[in-house]
Parts: sequence; C-alpha cells; structure tokens
Amino acid sequence: MTRAIALDGLSGAGKSTIAKALANTLGINYLDTGAMYRALAYAAKQEKISLDEEDLVASWLDHSGLELVLARTGQKTLLHGVDVSTQIRSPEMSRLSSAISALPSVRHYCVEMQRQLADQQMPLVLDGRDIGSYVLPRADFKFYLEATAAERARRRWQQMQDGSQGAAAQSYDQVLAEIIKRDLNDSSRELAPAIAAPDAIVIDTTELSAAEVLQRILQLMRVRAAENPALGDFWRQYLVLDPVCGAEDKG
Ligand code: C5P
Repeated sequence: MTRAIALDGLSGAGKSTIAKALANTLGINYLDTGAMYRALAYAAKQEKISLDEEDLVASWLDHSGLELVLARTGQKTLLHGVDVSTQIRSPEMSRLSSAISALPSVRHYCVEMQRQLADQQMPLVLDGRDIGSYVLPRADFKFYLEATAAERARRRWQQMQDGSQGAAAQSYDQVLAEIIKRDLNDSSRELAPAIAAPDAIVIDTTELSAAEVLQRILQLMRVRAAENPALGDFWRQYLVLDPVCGAEDKG
C-alpha cells in the first residue's frame, strides 16, 4: 500500500485547489506533479532544447536542474536552485508542458521522481493526470475530478482575472480553446494518458464549490478508512476516526 492520496483529472478540474486544501486539512504535504512538466518545459525553452529531438531531451533531463521542495506552506519548484514557481504558470508553459509531457523519456523521469517523493514523504497528496492509474497504482485513496470543459475554462479564466496564476490575460474563448486542445493531448497520448483508474472515485465538480468537493472527499475517506482496518489504522490520526464507531466528523 502506498500512503498517498491520488487526485487526478483534466486541466481546470479543481485538482490543485482541492489538493492544497486537503493537504492542509490533513496536515500533510502536497505534490503538484504538473509543476514538474511545466518546469521542464520552461527549462527546455530557456536552454533552447528542441522537443522534436527526443534523444537530446532524454540526455538533457539529468542536467535540467529540476528540484522540488515540499513543505506544509507549499511547494517550491526549482531549476538549478532558482525558484521558478511563478514563471511556469503562463499560458505558454501550459501549452509546452502538455507537449513535453507526451515524451516517454520525460514521463519516465518525472514518474520516477514522483515515486521517490511519495516514498520519502509519506503520507502525501499528489495531483496530476496519471497518479492513480500509473504512478502509484497502490495509492490508498484515488479520486478523479471531472467538470465540463466550459466550467473548467471559466475557472481558469477567473484565476487569470484574479492574477493568482501570474498569467497574461486571455479571453474566455482562448482559454476554452486551449483547454480543449490540452484535453486531447493529455488523454490521447500513448504513455500514461489522463484517465481515471478503475478503482478511483470519480467526482463531477461542475456544480460543486471547492469547499463542497473537499467535504465530499474527506467524508469518502472517512467512510473507507472506517470500513477497512488496513486504511483506518494508518489514516485514523489524520482523519480523526472514532475507534469504536468508525467515522466522526472533525467539523
Ligand atoms: O496540472 P497542470 O496543468 O499544471 O499540468 C501541466 C501539464 O503537465 C498538463 O497539461 C499535462 O500535459 C502534464 N501533466 C501530466 N501528468 C501529470 C501532471 C501534469 O502529463 N501527472
């Protein structure tokens, strides 16, 4: 068993908001796996590494300087020691990260790093596309968040208006077009596409607020942990389970 919570879904499904809030509520760390692909895309662009030459990309990966620092206050994504957490949020990096993430060498590199971090930092919340289906098939909990493309685009566009992503302004239509393109890239690539694992719980968040999604996930975790002693023994301390009655709401 991997003491991890896999939170997967397509762009804008609310994964990062929920993953942060979930990690915060449980008092554990959170790994944003998309930031790894974004940082590699950023580094490749800075270093003029052509994504069309996979052999070159493969031999460059070990020299890319990618490093992740996980902390309860949030993740830092570093390249050669420099924090690029803000620079990697641009629409251009959204596009390039989707392209670079389809290269098998890049996926192997990131997946290996994700597995090592999950081993070292148990328990961990990870958000991505393939965490439950490929990276950590034995994760204790797996959730797959869905929402219509129109709603996901609305959320991304709203984040841009709020300036919370440090992104240049795009029209709603541009955001929607890019989401649809990324959906296609991320779900049609050969290796580890974005897909719900057969044992993942799928949650449609279209009509739900972030707080509602969080409560639903916590409740589902409590129920599963109460039913399954192998989960309950470990997760009790995080979920505040009543040892006799099973699930109890922390409030
Ligand atoms: O989640 P985020 O939008 O930051 O991810 C950026 C890109 O990285 C995605 O469009 C996807 O192509 C890729 N990605 C991935 N597998 C993950 C996380 C992200 O392929 N586990």
